[in-house]
Amino acid sequence: MIGAGGVATVAAFKIAQNADVFTEFMIASRRKAKCDKIVEDIHKAGYKLDIKTAQVDADDVEQLKALFNDFKPELVINLALPYQDLTIMDACLACGCNYLDTANYEPKDEAHFEYSWQWAYRERFEKAGLTAILGCGFDPGVTSIYTAYAAKHHFKEIQYLDIVDCNAGDHHKAFATNFNPEINIREITQKGLYWEDGKWVETEPLEIHKDLTYPEIGPRDSYLLHHEEIESLVINYPTIKRARFWMTFGQQYLKHLEVIQNIGMSRIDEVEYEAPLADGTGTAKVKIVPLQFLKAVLPNPQDLGENYEGQTSIGCRIRGIGNDGKEHTYYVYNNCSHRAAYEETGMQGVSYTTGVPAMIGAMMFCKGLWNTPGVHNVEEFDPDPFMEQLNKQGLPWHEIHDGDLEL
Ligand code: NDP
Repeated sequence: MIGAGGVATVAAFKIAQNADVFTEFMIASRRKAKCDKIVEDIHKAGYKLDIKTAQVDADDVEQLKALFNDFKPELVINLALPYQDLTIMDACLACGCNYLDTANYEPKDEAHFEYSWQWAYRERFEKAGLTAILGCGFDPGVTSIYTAYAAKHHFKEIQYLDIVDCNAGDHHKAFATNFNPEINIREITQKGLYWEDGKWVETEPLEIHKDLTYPEIGPRDSYLLHHEEIESLVINYPTIKRARFWMTFGQQYLKHLEVIQNIGMSRIDEVEYEAPLADGTGTAKVKIVPLQFLKAVLPNPQDLGENYEGQTSIGCRIRGIGNDGKEHTYYVYNNCSHRAAYEETGMQGVSYTTGVPAMIGAMMFCKGLWNTPGVHNVEEFDPDPFMEQLNKQGLPWHEIHDGDLEL
């Protein structure tokens, strides 16, 4: 596993809890000390799995190759940042390793994500007899598997898909992001995008919003965003007439976001800054990326867990033609308590809802259930064994048939 952040910590705990499937395990990241800390916490919690750790710069293919040739992993779980997807895929191809991630590639200098860069590896993975599993977190990930499950069991034709993501938690901070702030702010400040009648429709950032009611939570203002799973779902389910993604934000969060943008702190280009030298002997001209600097002063998402109350609620609201030929609606969702996630893994619910599916995807691969050579989005695999594990591994799901979808 590459990365030692919030999501990686949860995935490591869950891997240690499933030591019958995962017999040999290594955590490698930019800073080895963070990997060692995860292992220490896992062992303190009573899990016995022997875990190796290593330092690696995942931007450097040669370093990755040296590591992979040494440890010889069957599967590399990429829980670093989207910037490293391609270098890790290159190293996997060079060393004969299979691959899994939770977020699609983004270039560092452009706030833009799409699957084309990773789909371009299809033939090479196929020829090498290797499997790459893309987008195996919650969204993308579980939401895509929910859609596959609905298509397999409940619908002849899925026509309308709305993915709804609510975080009704309170971390008692004025402003904090729930996962890597740089990636999170880049995602939210982009233009909105949704699929309708065979084409993409663009909106201004956060232009479209409406109140949606979430189970056990109530109504929350939900904003239409561009989200990566829509891109593959409309291809894999061509009967979809409209597909959208909604995420809740509180007014306090949006107020801070607006100020951050207005004062230029969300910029991703370099600005020159006269910085004092660490030894106090003068100053030097340095280049900093404002958004990366902002990350350094914001609360670390990994530290939010302790006082986090409330829950997340993420699901798919689907309308289409059922197996009986009549129109039906279907809502499948999970609610996850931040406190319960923290008590189990030391991390908050957003890391938990991403790290658990990453482990389950790895389990599907290791059990030989999801290992078709090539590059695949998760909805291309059988959803049933994955859905079964969600119930066992801490993310139980619920279904509402023929309810009011509000959409
Ligand atoms: P963090 O920033 O907490 O963790 C990222 C980890 O990767 C850190 O340990 C970091 O090192 C390490 N890292 C960064 N760059 C390198 C590098 N060049 N070489 C080696 N290691 C590196 O992020 P999260 O845990 O919150 O998120 C992890 C991933 O999960 C992201 O890709 C994110 O987009 C994705 N995600 C997916 C979701 C989904 O539902 N699909 C939801 C939430 C997140 P260091 O600790 O030294 O900084």
